[in-house]
Amino acid sequence: MTFKEKSASGKKLSLNGDERSHSTQKKQGWEYSASPESTDHIQLRKKYDLFIGGQWVKAAKYFPTINPATEEKIALAAFASNSDVNKAVLSAKRAYEKVWSKVSPKERAKYIFRIARIMQEKAREFAVIESMDGGKPIKESKGIDVPLSIAHFFYYAGWADKLQFAFPGKKFLPVGVVGQIIPWNFPLLMAAWKIAPALACGNTVVIKSAETTPLTLYKLAEVIEEAELPAGVVNIISGAGETGAAIVNHPEVKKIAFTGSTEVGKIILRSIAGTDKKVTLELGGKAANIIFEDAPIDQAIEGIINGIYFNQGHVCCAGSRLLVQESIKDTVVKKLKYRLRSLKVGDPLDKNTDVGAINSKEQLKKIKELVSSGVDEGCTLYQSDCTLPERGFWFRPSFFTNVAQSNRIAREEIFGPVLSIMTFRTPKEAIEKANNTQYGLSAGIWTDKGSKIFKMAGDIKAGVVWSNTFNKFNPASPFGGYKESGFGREGGLHGLKEYLSFNE
Ligand code: ADP
Repeated sequence: MTFKEKSASGKKLSLNGDERSHSTQKKQGWEYSASPESTDHIQLRKKYDLFIGGQWVKAAKYFPTINPATEEKIALAAFASNSDVNKAVLSAKRAYEKVWSKVSPKERAKYIFRIARIMQEKAREFAVIESMDGGKPIKESKGIDVPLSIAHFFYYAGWADKLQFAFPGKKFLPVGVVGQIIPWNFPLLMAAWKIAPALACGNTVVIKSAETTPLTLYKLAEVIEEAELPAGVVNIISGAGETGAAIVNHPEVKKIAFTGSTEVGKIILRSIAGTDKKVTLELGGKAANIIFEDAPIDQAIEGIINGIYFNQGHVCCAGSRLLVQESIKDTVVKKLKYRLRSLKVGDPLDKNTDVGAINSKEQLKKIKELVSSGVDEGCTLYQSDCTLPERGFWFRPSFFTNVAQSNRIAREEIFGPVLSIMTFRTPKEAIEKANNTQYGLSAGIWTDKGSKIFKMAGDIKAGVVWSNTFNKFNPASPFGGYKESGFGREGGLHGLKEYLSFNE
């Protein structure tokens, strides 16, 4: 059975003053007028070859990358074959041995600073392309993805000549050639998280973008050319799972940094078992966002919204399980229903858009399948009554109540704008429920009591625990998981360690 999309209209709620005035505005047709970001300043090629050894290298096959908001083709991207991967890895090896390992740390820093500065000059272009290729709202790519990516390059540029202070008394060397495989939800940001520390530590890189979002990585390749980074230090390729597997299995690749699904993370671990490759895996999540009755409720509502609807819920650390204290459940659900109706869903390039397009047809299918399972298992679905565009891939911001811990929607990662709401009575119960998952990437705690925050944060098995906020990132703070969310840390000083080999 497939679920029928329910409309929120017609539901009676008692509203406060602000809420009433909003609903009057809607009734009278006071909507935002369109405010599209200009695309005049962006430069895109029709066809992207592979960036290997500082050259644009033709591939035997190309695939179209489309705009998920319009289903229109934006450009063609090269599909790297095994022999292309081999070329890229050998070029990275040559660059490591002949050039990069001989460049002083101070010089390395200069190159990384230069990349960051050129990215700043092209920030608007990066943001527009990221939104076109991936479907995320322009206000997010402009305000979060791009500045945070640049901040990672600046941050790690600063470390390049200070590594001995990061690890005093230790002897270490770069790893050599590193293979990096990234997902489609934050393409440029994930590339920055991986490339910046790798270069700062003196490694060379082969990085592969995800199937649906190759464009900002190729823009980054143009920045790298402009920064005159020595040829082969960073090689950027595109392709599919088999391309990723060829990187993982190449004998000259000494470290793998992977962000993606737990399923593929397991395949990678199996295939490198018995080798001396270093590996970091940043995998799935099913984070608990825990709201206590003493929390500042309106801020918590914003935290819930940000936790699950940011980037259409395509976020591995999304607050996809809401644990709300039983005494305030009705208030929270009522306020969430109201807030959902004011989320603007639509054109990712519109500056007022809050929720953009689902990244791909396949992802939309996965979301629908899981939501259907929630309906079939007896959970109650609530959806925004927004009007969706006719073309493209869209899913209404949604949440479920009457959710049991055993329901699939409470256990599996939906990776879409769908929240599962459950309740608890005591902090102990909240901790048990929060930890009752195969994942352990992130969590949120909302309460007025500092002591409760410290107790909860210590007992929740998650790599990141936010208190009275959610989805806050900073290059100086490490990020990573426990359990099936993977291992290893990216960001901060911890992130440097993963790109060095220590001679204890
Ligand atoms: P999702 O399901 O969200 O697309 P995946 O884990 O399948 O996440 O994909 C994340 C990245 O891993 C993508 O770049 C994809 O091409 C790559 N990938 C997929 N399968 C493999 C594999 N067997 N080995 C290495 N990389 C892979």
